[in-house]
Amino acid sequence: MAERDARARQLGGDAERLRPEPRPHDAGMEHHVNEPKVCIYPGCERPAVPPHPLGGPQPAFCDLEDHNALTAHQERQRLAEERGTKG
Ligand SMILES: [Zn+2]
Repeated sequence: MAERDARARQLGGDAERLRPEPRPHDAGMEHHVNEPKVCIYPGCERPAVPPHPLGGPQPAFCDLEDHNALTAHQERQRLAEERGTKG
């Protein structure tokens, strides 16, 4: 009797899964980061490209080819000069 009860309970447990179904619109978007990184190019507010799936640090720039460490440096200098020579 007791055995039969246990088995019935197990089968019942298998049959009805109480897992919440994954939401389709959440599946592709993984928002596990607290703060999305933003491109550090001066004046650019585009989101930085996501980190490589195989690992490595996340790039600090967005997906624009013009935005990289060199051009950001040049742009900063240009802006600084503009401010300095203003007037
Ligand atoms: Zn950018």
